[in-house]
Amino acid sequence: MNTSGRKYFNMEIEPLLNTPQMRDLQLKKLQSAVKYFYENVPFDRRRMTKTGALPEDIRSFGDFARAVPIAGQADYRDVFKEVDSDMAKSFEILFGEARLRDLHLLTTTSGTTGIPTPYPVFHKTTEAMGELFGRIGWRMNIRAGDKLAICFGLSMHAAGIPHLYWFKKLHGLSLYPIGAEAGTERILSLMKLFKVNIFSGTPSLAQHLIERAPEVLRDSVGSLGLKLLVCGAEPGAGIPEVRRRLEEEYGARVFDIGAGYGVSCDYPDYQGMHWIADDYCYYELVDPETLEPVPMVHGATGLAVLTPLEPDSTIFFHNLRFTLNDIHQIYTDPCPCGLSGFRYKIIGRADDMLKVKGVPVYPAAVQGVINSFFPRLTGAFRIVLDVPPPRVIPPLKLKVEHGEGVRESDLPGLEKEVLDAMHSQLKVRPAIAWLGPNILERAVKKTQLLEKAYEQK
Ligand SMILES: [Zn+2]
Repeated sequence: MNTSGRKYFNMEIEPLLNTPQMRDLQLKKLQSAVKYFYENVPFDRRRMTKTGALPEDIRSFGDFARAVPIAGQADYRDVFKEVDSDMAKSFEILFGEARLRDLHLLTTTSGTTGIPTPYPVFHKTTEAMGELFGRIGWRMNIRAGDKLAICFGLSMHAAGIPHLYWFKKLHGLSLYPIGAEAGTERILSLMKLFKVNIFSGTPSLAQHLIERAPEVLRDSVGSLGLKLLVCGAEPGAGIPEVRRRLEEEYGARVFDIGAGYGVSCDYPDYQGMHWIADDYCYYELVDPETLEPVPMVHGATGLAVLTPLEPDSTIFFHNLRFTLNDIHQIYTDPCPCGLSGFRYKIIGRADDMLKVKGVPVYPAAVQGVINSFFPRLTGAFRIVLDVPPPRVIPPLKLKVEHGEGVRESDLPGLEKEVLDAMHSQLKVRPAIAWLGPNILERAVKKTQLLEKAYEQK
């Protein structure tokens, strides 16, 4: 079969994304998924018991929202506590015995704040991954002959080892599992040695490699000749300024994946990620404070809540109405790129939200403004918190690195420009403490943007 010229990986399903026909299919699948979870997964059955709803009561999406309270990682932690951190018992409650018999691989979050959140991969999940990431990879223009370096963490990381299944249906693509743990020097050397042409990892690692390349490769990252960067696990690549810098330095296209099953497109201006999985997962937005449903209209903002429609092959989301606490904005009008699927942008995390005099501020949005001043700013910064979030005693305090070549005498003018940009885009006027270049620690995995000064008191 000659498939090289086709528009989509799945020519039957992808043209139907975000259409009324797809909504009908979703409702049918949702009804049988609810039945599965109610009968097999104690965690979901318990939540439905609270509202008194039964699977046969679900006749519409509205019925579903009323029947099942939203759950998140905090609810997982309650289950761990309930069983005294006995993981086997907690898994039975969270995932159900039927799926546990099919458990193939276990990955987790980093667990910096206690017990890591488990991300199981069931045998059937590997098939679903192959299908969904086939769609994603095809849209990123991954084709036979490409060589992809996996530079996410490989140690239990949910985006690491599972890569081996993600792209298994894209025949002709070969994978190089280098891993973030290898460190920047080895990552750069191995990518060069094996002539890898695709990088897959966090955007902060991709940015860090730019700074390390001249020393390690005796040349710029552009000399690697990469074709594309697949960025995920943090919002950087969705921030236009970060994306522009990565594209310029690497001479490669940058695609953003994550926070669900989505991928950005090749349109020159960032349009958000196209949601490519209507037939596998039901996507909702709710108000982050009241948890009431928000209509899926162009430009709507809310907490993203996801429900798997194929219960025995779930990826990342394993229960009804689960949220990772990401705040999304959605775009339902057709994308100028011409590809199907509504689009979403991550605008922050509900639990990262800071409130400065009642104004919500997301660290990722602050990062966007900082990055727009590259190269006069290096892009590295911290938000210093004197009290636990979300409350901030004004002004919002920032530590910001200025770039190479910025003189002491340039700082007052630069500071005024940065503050004006912050004020017009974020409605806050922070206090800036200046640092020289390369003072703040660079993270190989996720960059911590908050400095919790109140913990050191
Ligand atoms: Zn598009």
